[in-house]
Amino acid sequence: MELIFLGTGAGTPSRERNVSAIALTLDNCRSGAIWMFDCGEATQHQFMRSPLKPGKLDKIFITHLHGDHIFGLPGLLTSRSMGGVMTPLTLYGPKGLKSFVETSLSLSASYVTFPLEIIEIEAGEVFDDGHYIVTAWPMAHVIECYGYRIQEHDKPGVLDAERLKAEGIAAGPWFQQLKRGETVIMDDGREVCGKDYLGTYTKGKSLAIFGDTAPTAVASEMARQVDVMVHEATLEAAMQEKANGRGHSTTHQAATAAKQAGAKRLIATHFSSRYGYADMERLLAECRDIFPATEFARDFAVFTL
Ligand SMILES: [Zn+2]
Ligand SMILES: [Zn+2]
Repeated sequence: MELIFLGTGAGTPSRERNVSAIALTLDNCRSGAIWMFDCGEATQHQFMRSPLKPGKLDKIFITHLHGDHIFGLPGLLTSRSMGGVMTPLTLYGPKGLKSFVETSLSLSASYVTFPLEIIEIEAGEVFDDGHYIVTAWPMAHVIECYGYRIQEHDKPGVLDAERLKAEGIAAGPWFQQLKRGETVIMDDGREVCGKDYLGTYTKGKSLAIFGDTAPTAVASEMARQVDVMVHEATLEAAMQEKANGRGHSTTHQAATAAKQAGAKRLIATHFSSRYGYADMERLLAECRDIFPATEFARDFAVFTL
C-alpha cells in the first residue's frame, strides 16, 4: 500500500502546494486499485503528473464539502469519462455531495459514460468488502465533516497441504474449513484442527485519514494504534486560538492526537498557504517535540505502508 499526496495545502493553492487530495494504492489482492481522499481543484492535473492511472481509480472518499476538498470533482470525473475509462467509480461523502456533482454536471451539459454511484454517508461503517473495513468518524469542523479509518482484514496463514497429505489427510472440501482454522472430524474419527496446519497470519494494515478538524474526542478511537495517521496541521502551535476557531488544528495538536491514539506514524498535511517549504523544518520540529515519528507531506510525496 502506498499513500501519494496530490495536494497538501489548506484553503487555496500556493506555488508549492495544491489543495487537498490523497491517493491510496491498494495491494495486489485488489490489483492495484486506487482510492482517493478529497479532490480539490486541479486534482486531475496533479493526477496526470503522478504515476497513477485514472482507470484504476475506483473509490473517492470526500471528507466535507468545502471547495478546497471538492472543486476538482467535475473536471476529474468528466476527463476520466472522455479518456474512455469505463470502469465503475463510487463516491462517498456527506449529504449534499450527490447534489453538488449532479448539478455541476447537468448545468455544464456534461455527463460521464462510466457507472457512477454517489453514496451519502453518516458516521459508522461505510462498507466491509471482505478485504477492507472503512468507517467514517465525525470531525470537529465548521460544517459536516468526516475522517475515514481503513482497516485491512488480517490475512490467514497458508494451509500446509503437504503436511496434511503426509499425515494421511486427503484433499477434500474440508480443506476450506481447515483454512479458516476450524476443527474437522474425519471419516476415521480423527479430529484435525486447522489452526495446527496454518502458517503465521499477516496482520492487516490500518490507517486513519482525518478531515479538517479541531481537536476531537473521537481521534483516539478512530486512530487507535493505526500504522499511519494522516492529520491536518493547518497552523503553527502559537496560533491555536485562530486554528481552533476555524475548525482546524495546530502542529502540536496533530502530534498530541497521534500520541494519544498510539499511532505508529503521523503524516501531517493541509498546511496554510502562509507557510512555504522553507518554514517546514520549524513546524516539523514542533510536531516532533511531542510525537517523534512525524513526517510532513508535500505534493507528490509517496509513503509506503
Ligand atoms: Zn480544508
Ligand atoms: Zn474545511
